[in-house]
Amino acid sequence: MVNRLVPYVPGEQPKIDNLVKLNTNENPYPPSPRVIAAIQAAAQQGLQLYPDPEATALRQAIAAQHGLAAQHVFLGNGSDEVLAHAFFAFFQHDCPLLMPDISYSFYKVYCGLYGIPVETVPLRADLSLDVAAYARADGAAVAGVVIANPNAPTGVGLPLRQVEQLLRLHPQRVVLVDEAYVDFGGESAMPLIAQYPNLLVVHTLSKSRSLAGLRVGFACGQAHLITALERVKNSFNSYPLDRLAIAGGVAAFEDQAYFEQTRRAVMSSREGLVLALEDMGFQVLPSQANFVFARHPQHDAAGIAAALRARGVLVRHFKLPRIEQFLRISIGTPAQCDALLQALDSVLAGLA
Ligand SMILES: *Cc1c(COP(=O)(O)O)cnc(C)c1O
Repeated sequence: MVNRLVPYVPGEQPKIDNLVKLNTNENPYPPSPRVIAAIQAAAQQGLQLYPDPEATALRQAIAAQHGLAAQHVFLGNGSDEVLAHAFFAFFQHDCPLLMPDISYSFYKVYCGLYGIPVETVPLRADLSLDVAAYARADGAAVAGVVIANPNAPTGVGLPLRQVEQLLRLHPQRVVLVDEAYVDFGGESAMPLIAQYPNLLVVHTLSKSRSLAGLRVGFACGQAHLITALERVKNSFNSYPLDRLAIAGGVAAFEDQAYFEQTRRAVMSSREGLVLALEDMGFQVLPSQANFVFARHPQHDAAGIAAALRARGVLVRHFKLPRIEQFLRISIGTPAQCDALLQALDSVLAGLA
């Protein structure tokens, strides 16, 4: 059984100094100073005690942020854990789970882990999502639908109206919308929760809140979905969030000004980077995320990635059908973006 699993492979985290690391979509800015202070305070009181298994303070902070009640919020040790529990709770039926052919590669890993059959639905030629292709006119049963919005690794967003169409196509099944990148310009489905009992929206503090190292993710949905997730979680680990994560998470939602400032800085760097890449001849997909997905019509993507790496700049290349000629480049600080562009300049000159 174990030998049949195909695990997820994260982007590399090399232990080399001075790398320009634009390969795992981390936030280039550190977390809010208030988060650091809250974690330090939490470290000085009560670490000998288990944390609140319900993480009530953090659920309340998140609920308030999104105009929901705490009973509409489920927390996990990173959104990857939240996704795993959701797949276990909602998608184990004798029919396939629908997902885009190009999306977050962890989805298929969970399907492998839980024995969930998958049916991939091709994105359009421009790598946008075709909602109509998720209809099953022949009445064929589906286990549910999972999408990332904005999508990974393309950065392309799906308008809310089309998310709503997806919810209406399969009213009896859970439609999971993974909004890991939504704070960088996407349209969140949170406002649809009251209306759609089949909607589960998953968020993370890893990207827009600069807390990839703290491991906090959450799902929002109607109470019956949250109750189901709690049952799975309490059959697995009662304390997925430690005291430091709960304290840091609460502080992150209290410092809204810092959140706004850093996400706007990332979006503004993205606009500059897109223009500069286009000047170099790259075709860049429209991005609503903290990364861009780009291809160069004259140069092989794997070759560019390797040459950049030799110059100390890491970007992500996926050796997968349809996207083999693309590079996924995380948005760095202005200095990191400049370093990338300089390295690209010399790489492309060498390849010309
Ligand atoms: C980064 C990412 C996640 C995982 O986030 P964690 O909270 O760090 O586990 C989930 N989904 C997508 C699409 C992501 O890009």
